[in-house]
Amino acid sequence: MDPILDPLNDAQRAAVLHGDGPLLVLAGAGSGKTRVIVHRVAHLVRVRGIAPWHVLCVTFTNKAAGEMKERLVELLGPEAEQAWVSTFHAFGARFLRREAQAAGLSPSFPIYDDGDQLGLVKRLLAEAHVDALTPREVLSRIDRWKNAGLSPGEVRAGDRDPSGQAALELWRRYERALGRAGAVDFGDLLMRPLKLLELDEAVRARWSGRFRHVLVDEFQDTSPAQYRLVRHLAGGRGNVCVVGDDDQAIYRWRGADVANILDFDRDFPGTTVVKLEQNYRSSRQILDAAHAVIEKAARRREKRLWTAREGGAPLQLLVSEDEHQEGERIARAVQAAHRGGVAWEEIAVLYRVNAQSRALEAALRAARVPYVIVRGQSFYERAEVKDAAAYLRLALEPRSDLDLLRVVNRPSRKIGERTVALLQERAAAAGLSLFESLAGLESAAELKPQARKALAGFRDLVAGLHARVGALAAGEAVRAVLDGTGLIDKLRLEGTDESVERAENLLELLAAAREFDEAQGRAPPAADPEEPVPPPISRFLEQIALLGEADGPTPEGRVALMTLHAAKGLEFDAVILAGMEEGTLPHQRPWHDDAPAERAAALDEERRLCYVGMTRARHQLSLSLARRRMSYGEGGPTFRSTEPSRFLGDLPQELFGLPPRGAPPAPRGPVIRRPPGALPGDPHVELDDAPPEEAGPAERSIDWSFDQTEGGGAFARGARVRHAQFGEGLVRGSDGPGGDAKVTVAFFSVGEKRVLARFLRPA
Ligand code: ATP
Ligand code: MG
Repeated sequence: MDPILDPLNDAQRAAVLHGDGPLLVLAGAGSGKTRVIVHRVAHLVRVRGIAPWHVLCVTFTNKAAGEMKERLVELLGPEAEQAWVSTFHAFGARFLRREAQAAGLSPSFPIYDDGDQLGLVKRLLAEAHVDALTPREVLSRIDRWKNAGLSPGEVRAGDRDPSGQAALELWRRYERALGRAGAVDFGDLLMRPLKLLELDEAVRARWSGRFRHVLVDEFQDTSPAQYRLVRHLAGGRGNVCVVGDDDQAIYRWRGADVANILDFDRDFPGTTVVKLEQNYRSSRQILDAAHAVIEKAARRREKRLWTAREGGAPLQLLVSEDEHQEGERIARAVQAAHRGGVAWEEIAVLYRVNAQSRALEAALRAARVPYVIVRGQSFYERAEVKDAAAYLRLALEPRSDLDLLRVVNRPSRKIGERTVALLQERAAAAGLSLFESLAGLESAAELKPQARKALAGFRDLVAGLHARVGALAAGEAVRAVLDGTGLIDKLRLEGTDESVERAENLLELLAAAREFDEAQGRAPPAADPEEPVPPPISRFLEQIALLGEADGPTPEGRVALMTLHAAKGLEFDAVILAGMEEGTLPHQRPWHDDAPAERAAALDEERRLCYVGMTRARHQLSLSLARRRMSYGEGGPTFRSTEPSRFLGDLPQELFGLPPRGAPPAPRGPVIRRPPGALPGDPHVELDDAPPEEAGPAERSIDWSFDQTEGGGAFARGARVRHAQFGEGLVRGSDGPGGDAKVTVAFFSVGEKRVLARFLRPA
């Protein structure tokens, strides 16, 4: 048995065996694109004798990179650790540390994350007395420019675009501030390597021949800057293998450009194209549903996947009154799947925007469903953790003004705003960093002796840490900061529940750093003697800074809650898509007031996002919507009625186990048989055991129109009722009086049914 080639189909094998030269694998979701990348790397190393450190593999999230490495280790053994497998940003950081000298940086430069960037822009806006722009607006312009691979000199803001000019000016200041601090931001992790490769011949010479093979997963979402980077790194050899799916392009707003896929052929003449058409992930129902949604995209290349997996459970529709009820229904659907034998970690609840997670979380907690919100940064976004990280960065790079401003008075050492303002003035006048200007201020006549002493104490602290941390293990460095700064002691003294929790968070940071050290100890030594080894604490901080949205830990035994964007590339046995409503999915904001062409493009992107979400599911896909949703406008929260998502309307009803729209009513009797391959626990399956007169009625089509609730009576239209067998639902109508009345109820888990009133209780 050949572990590299045997588990592949013919098309996949052709891609893995492809010799030198450019290769494009263009294929739909779940067709084994990522598998091709992994097996191709294994083949290059094991059979073609390429050294693993001559192979570069880029993916979209740290989590994906981690999984890829794991699978490679399974195929190749520990040798696989030496391949360069990472995200673009992590690659950029590694590149820059290596080329620190050429880049004019110290090898342990700090990386400013989104929150840091925002803080910096805020300060610059205040300094420049600009109030026509919000910090977010400025930052998103800067990001967009950087993603397009531009630098300030290359951007022209027209005379008629004063806010563009202001943003451009702020960008210049922003870059100067980064330069003074010796820091880089996220965009720089791509831009600076790119500029070095383009402008510095020595750097180019070092890198263009370095990777014998470059492989890129999720190629449809690479930005122009990332694409240029790939082209440089591939050098003249052209051994580039990219895999992607144009139907899954969901990062247009971040500057990704599907044109990369379409133009690949032009940039790399003689490209071999491989198409994969068999889906190994999802049941037929799920694939059909996903296809029904994506085929309506205005612009796409037609492709259709097939699966050998016949049957499968029908799709499930969960209809709720509002987002709280939606949370409850979803919690119940999750429990049902779990009872049916699906492990918690094989269940995912996906949503369009983070704000949706609140109601879901509350409901899951109430139902005692173990869950985790997959959003890596939340721990590291906590104020006290950021304080400690700022001290660590400052210790490595005392010129990092942003960090100094954050911690100069944390914990309080009585350095007031006036003192800080004076420090900033002096530094600006002398063109120095704040740290460098501290010494001068310690004799400043304007300051009281107490302030001067406090500044001197702070300077000693930072200087002392600076002298030490580079040589320490990450855990020791964190310990040194916690001890030296008194951060923990202060919190302990406060003695409130909250401060105790925050102290615990700092200890958690310490634990994370120690774990990092242990993992480093286990890793084989770098095979590449040229590789500089930055201080452990610098690498630990880098790992934190690079935690992306999709990279939170997903411990076993927990249901994963995440945005659709974060779910890319992942798979689960059961998936629930929440908020299938107009305005939520498709999300409204992106095309609120744009031109029609732009609106159509944005709508297509929402469609692809829905497609990505649906194709994460292996066996069971549930779609959930609420008739009303809280929205947060200027006048505070309000409830608004919603319309079902147009994407629901694109789905054939048969996929829900119902007769086609417009078909004659189904015969009486137990209506839905256990579909072949259905998961036990699926509510449709439970119908099998329902007594005929309850399960029987004819009217089972899903009503997309969602009439408004009308008032009065326990079984009036819109009333919420409970049925022993079918659970909760909303009354649609009734005929006849009393207990013998036949009431039509839209049950949240099984769709619409007619049942006797005496079997119903108000819910
Ligand atoms: P996505 O577009 O969502 O990123 P993908 O094309 O990268 O999907 P993979 O994640 O590589 O697809 O594969 C989907 C699933 O199918 C995985 O569970 C994988 O192990 C399995 N798979 C892929 N190829 C085969 C094969 N030839 N035989 C059996 N299973 C396979
Ligand atoms: Mg993949």
